[in-house]
Order: sequence, then structure tokens, then C-alpha cells
Amino acid sequence: MLRPRRTSAGERRPTPGTAPHGRVILRQGPVLTVLTPSGERVPCLAKGKGKAAVVGDGVYFTPMPPTELAAGIIDAVAPRRNQLARSDGTQRPQIIAANLDRLVVVVAVEPPARGGLIDRLLVAAHAQGIPCCIVLNKIDLLEDDEDTAEDLDEVLEPYPPLGNPVFRVSAATGEGVAELGALLATGTSILVGHSGVGKTSLLNALCPGLGERVKALSDATGRGVHTTTSAALFALPGGGELIDCPGVRMFALWGVEPADLARHFVEFAPFAVQCRFANCRHDLEPGCAVVAAVEDETIHPARYDSYLRLRATVLGGELRGADW
Ligand code: GDP
Ligand code: ZN
Repeated sequence: MLRPRRTSAGERRPTPGTAPHGRVILRQGPVLTVLTPSGERVPCLAKGKGKAAVVGDGVYFTPMPPTELAAGIIDAVAPRRNQLARSDGTQRPQIIAANLDRLVVVVAVEPPARGGLIDRLLVAAHAQGIPCCIVLNKIDLLEDDEDTAEDLDEVLEPYPPLGNPVFRVSAATGEGVAELGALLATGTSILVGHSGVGKTSLLNALCPGLGERVKALSDATGRGVHTTTSAALFALPGGGELIDCPGVRMFALWGVEPADLARHFVEFAPFAVQCRFANCRHDLEPGCAVVAAVEDETIHPARYDSYLRLRATVLGGELRGADW
């Protein structure tokens, strides 16, 4: 087998096409499982530049004599198409996953969906060029509850016109799950949302038999997968891949400058160019065409409220208001 080249500094550098490589499909503490093109699963540790690896990354690794923990060392990460990053309050972002084709925001009838989280995730996805859809889970709870159904319709109303389709499903009864599976059948999707909205239940509904696989993994490592896993990528039976990140409990924006925020509210764009001031913040400035569009409800007032709240958050540069 060809070995990775060494640079003059002695650092290992991958030789694309020759070094053992694959895709990170699971992270459990320090151990990353790499799926190789031949279908082999290699548990790896990471060093040097390899330490940046997250689920979804293409990586190069060096095989090592298998230990209880690992059989390889990841030394390099292939360039990413995109990444989902959040702030954890430190100077550095936490990268949740990489190379995504779709972000699936999961909300529920209970705990009740609110627009703020959806808008925050839409900004993060737009900043990385990742298409986004919204899943309302637990619609079985809406039977005989028209008031809640109306409230939820109102919360979700702004999104389809923005190009973010809304799917209404029930992981419990299976309603809408096949339609969601069809949407996810291409590319790599990631499920994000508050704890308790039913992400695990949806994953199980989309991937029947997964429960056993999760159990098999826990048996192999002697640890419960969901207690130590920060992210895992699953192949869906109908095609496509789904990343579950059970460890992510909150999502604060990372890397979006206050001056750029309005750009990620896509429906503001046609109005923003008409504001009197080129650097208008769409707040209290005179001649703001965005505010005028909010007043005549061409822009949804709830979206504008989210914009103002998010702006305060990113200006503050901290986690204020950033809980899921
Ligand atoms: P997660 O924290 O997002 O992974 O959520 P879970 O999948 O653990 O679900 C949280 C709770 O909601 C559990 O008690 C599930 O049984 C329940 N749940 C999940 N999906 C549904 C659903 O479609 N309908 C109802 N009624 N309950 C659900
Ligand atoms: Zn303006």
C-alpha cells in the first residue's frame, strides 16, 4: 500500500487517490468511524489537521495496529463544500457536520413550534448555501384541537413562499413519513431541532430496524450510543443519508456579521436595494423600504421581528436569546 507523502517538516500530507480515505459517519467521544469506498468501517483517532474532522467529512487516514479503541489515525480532512457551525460561547465555532445537501428543521406541536429558532437556522443554512425544509412533527396531537392547529399554521405560514417547504408528519402514526422519506432520498440531510420534538422517533420511523443497529453499536463499544454520540450518519432505506446530532442542545449563530444578517433574510433583498441609505440596517433609519414592506405586510412581520432579535444577538456577540 502506498503511504502518504511526508513534507519537509515531517508532517504527513495525504496523496489524493492513494492514501486510505473515506467519510466520517459517526463520532463517539474521541473515536470517529470512517466508512471507506469499499464499505469497510474503520474506527479512527485523529491528530494534527485530522482533529478538525466531523461527521460528513471526507478524510485521509493511516491504518495502525488495531487497539480496543481504533485501527487508524485521521491525519487530514478534504476541503468541505459547506459546514453547519454554531457558537458555544468561545472564540471558536463548533462544527456540527459538513458537506450537507439539506437542513431539516424539526419542530413539533408539543413543545410548541416558534418562529425564532426556525429563522435562526434558516440564516445559518443560507449563509452556507444549504437548502432548508421544515418538519412539523406530532400532528396526531392536533386532532380535536383546532386552536393549536391555527396557531401553528400561523407560525409556519411565512416559510413555503421563501422556498422552505413545510412537511406535516407524525412519527407516532407514520402519517407523512413516506413523503418526508421521498424528499430525503437524495443527498445528505441533517435533522436539527429542540430536544423532545421527536428527532429520534422520526429517525426510527424513516429507518425501520435502526433500533437494533443502534443497540448493536452500543454492545460493541460497551457504551450507549446516544449517551456518547455527538453525531451519526445513517443510510436511509429509500436512498439518501440522514445525520442525527443528538448532542446539540442549542444553536447560536456563528460567523454571521451584523451587517450581513439582512442578506440571509432572502425576502428582504428586493426592498433592501431601495432603502434611502446603502448601509441601512432596516431598523430606525428614515426611508427604509424593508420597514415599509413590513408595514404593508409584503414582508411577514414575524420574520422582521426575528431579524431584529437576531441582530441584537449577533451585535451582542454572545449567547443572549440563543437557546434553541
Ligand atoms: P428528540 O429529543 O427530538 O430525539 O425526541 P424523541 O424522539 O426522543 O421524542 C420525544 C417524545 O416525543 C417521546 O416521548 C416520543 O415518544 C414523543 N413523540 C415523538 N414523535 C411523536 C409523534 O409523532 N406524536 C406523539 N404524540 N409523540 C411523539
Ligand atoms: Zn432599510
